[in-house]
Amino acid sequence: MSAPPLHVKASEPCHVKRSRPKHSELPEEQRKKVNARKAANMAQRRGRIIKQRCERCGAAQAEKHHDDYAQPLKVRWLCMACHRSEHAPSSPPVCSKCRGPRDREGQQFCRTCHAAYMRAWRVKQRQLVQLARALVKAGKATLPTPTTPVKESPCS
Ligand SMILES: [Zn+2]
Ligand SMILES: [Zn+2]
Ligand SMILES: [Zn+2]
Repeated sequence: MSAPPLHVKASEPCHVKRSRPKHSELPEEQRKKVNARKAANMAQRRGRIIKQRCERCGAAQAEKHHDDYAQPLKVRWLCMACHRSEHAPSSPPVCSKCRGPRDREGQQFCRTCHAAYMRAWRVKQRQLVQLARALVKAGKATLPTPTTPVKESPCS
């Protein structure tokens, strides 16, 4: 029985799992993170960092959190849940009027509140125009010389 032909594949064999990227291949920020964790773990083993409860909720199972990876020994202890929320975006997109979910980034209000705001804004503008017209009619004011309209956005 002859030996089966050798198949030389250019790609990696499927059983070889892609290993984690080498430390030197990590982006700068990642590398700092890994280094800070390593240093903190080492310090903990040497007793320089003492494990504490979660500083937010007091849970016994807490993990180290770095506010600044440049200061690896400056850690805060947070349980898994609090740690996750610590890393979550500081301002979740909520409507500042109804506190409901805000679907668009960079907007202050949700769609509904935005529409209501715009409606109220237009009504107010119309009232101002009517008031101005009434004053002009009554001879109490003169029409202002037209200037370039100020672009006023109701949403900042
Ligand atoms: Zn953290
Ligand atoms: Zn906690
Ligand atoms: Zn809203």
